[in-house]
Amino acid sequence: MQQLFYGLSAVPGVGIGNIYKYAPAATHAGPADGRADIGSPEEEWARFLAARLLVDEELARLAQIGQAATAEIFLVHREILHDSTLTDAVRAAIDSGSGATHATQVATSELVKLFQDLSDTYFASRATDIRDVGQRLVTRLGGITSVRQLNPLPNGTILLADDLTPFDTTHLDQTHVVGIALAASTPTAHTAILARSLGIPLVCSAGMEILQLQNGMFGVVDGIRGRLLVDPYEDTLEQYKLTRARLQRFQAEARSHSHEPALTPDGARIPVRVNVNSRDDLLHIDSSGAEGIGLLRTEYLFQHRTSPPTIDEQLAAYQEVQSYTNDHSLTVRLLDIGGDKPVQYLPQPAEANPFLGVRGIRLLLRHPKMLSDQFRALVALAHNVSPVSRIRILIPMISKMNEVHRTLALLEGIPGYEYCRHQLGTLEVGVMIEVPSAALLAHHLAPLVDFLSIGTNDLAQYTLAADRINSAVATLATPLDPSVLRLIALTCEAGQAAGIPVAICGEVAGDPSVQPLLLGLGLNEISVAGPAVPLVKSAIRQVDMAAAKVLAVKALQCSRAQEIHQLLHEEVAL
Ligand code: PEP
Ligand code: MG
Repeated sequence: MQQLFYGLSAVPGVGIGNIYKYAPAATHAGPADGRADIGSPEEEWARFLAARLLVDEELARLAQIGQAATAEIFLVHREILHDSTLTDAVRAAIDSGSGATHATQVATSELVKLFQDLSDTYFASRATDIRDVGQRLVTRLGGITSVRQLNPLPNGTILLADDLTPFDTTHLDQTHVVGIALAASTPTAHTAILARSLGIPLVCSAGMEILQLQNGMFGVVDGIRGRLLVDPYEDTLEQYKLTRARLQRFQAEARSHSHEPALTPDGARIPVRVNVNSRDDLLHIDSSGAEGIGLLRTEYLFQHRTSPPTIDEQLAAYQEVQSYTNDHSLTVRLLDIGGDKPVQYLPQPAEANPFLGVRGIRLLLRHPKMLSDQFRALVALAHNVSPVSRIRILIPMISKMNEVHRTLALLEGIPGYEYCRHQLGTLEVGVMIEVPSAALLAHHLAPLVDFLSIGTNDLAQYTLAADRINSAVATLATPLDPSVLRLIALTCEAGQAAGIPVAICGEVAGDPSVQPLLLGLGLNEISVAGPAVPLVKSAIRQVDMAAAKVLAVKALQCSRAQEIHQLLHEEVAL
């Protein structure tokens, strides 16, 4: 009997094989933790320092041999290793009589817990990094690690775990693991970044139930739709085998054309850009073939600090980002904090529903200095870019017309804005359509701006009243619901009527199979995660625009998301 578990797609691809459940063994206390073996606090501290040195050398080596993105991860791990919060906690535990191994275990697990309790996905993934560093230290201190459980593994292994640390991921038997399904974790965690660079299909947030499955069961990791199937029906399995073979051919082919434009057979030219969430992401832009950055989530520049970046710091950061675009356009989204992304230095009253609270532009308009500083940095950037580049400012979380009016009024008052916008032509302004009211008012919004960009992650959340970080309602919030598609269609019509382009930058845009629907609905530009760029470009090259328009009309007549999925499968056979 087939079992199906829904999760989130973190690394696309299909893995077929046998389940191996990985539960990191509780790290054993090393020999020095038997009471009789504990040395004096100075001896235990010296053991800790010696282990730390070895781990530091190991991380430095790993940073050198890996790709650029993975190197960054190991550099972050080196920072954690030397962070005083960790070392002070180890020292305090040693001073109160613990052995070095036990002190390290306790200090790291307390820090991990602290980070896990913060409802911020960035901090949640840092918890994994701290656990990873702790594992390395404990290994060097003589504790038993889980590495032996992960290497070697039988051929065709589907690895199931609650979560994996980057340490686990770098130690797993890459040649034999064909797919990974995690009960927890998120597509932005470092584990996902590593799995992506290893090319192993990964589904995360699949729920704790997957940990009840037995070793040896037969399964499929569907990293495209974010699903784990166990004991699949015969015909489903056959379809997945075909998909896997097709994907392999498709990926190889797509990569070989990634630097060519995405042109449909009827001549429609669709810019495919990349979403950038961190400095790591910049390193892949060139190889992905992206034609610029379609969404720079600037939150990473503002979080994990004690004060906001100055105008000069922001300008330097944006200049660095811009240097990776090859003079293509750079869409910079204004700071979108609030919701699940708080910052320490802007204390906000506790909100029962932060996603419905003071988030994005609502927050910025309450902190006009922060907003105008970001504007000043962006105008300065636009002032110095080459005339062929464009800096596009994108306003998040618009739900009312007056928010756009107030934001534009502030921007118009920034020295140099008019010059960049009207003389140099290097500055544009757009609005994110991610709240249903904005989609319904798109015909009023479009004439005020240069472009619209649809954020389907939030648009689905708000349309279907399904919290995007609550896995219990994750399946409700599909952007392929007919209600969401109608809002997308309205937005595209508004863009067309005003003669401005409409982009999409939500996660759904990274799925090659939805491209005919997106183009049929009237989207003009696509922005996706780096690894999806070549695949999306390839998919666009196959789209017959006339057929895509018919498909979109059919999809808009559907009453259920399942019917739309069905339509897409008919269009793009698995
Ligand atoms: C979206 O909402 O679809 C979007 C792209 O923005 P974010 O995921 O950063 O909220
Ligand atoms: Mg959003």
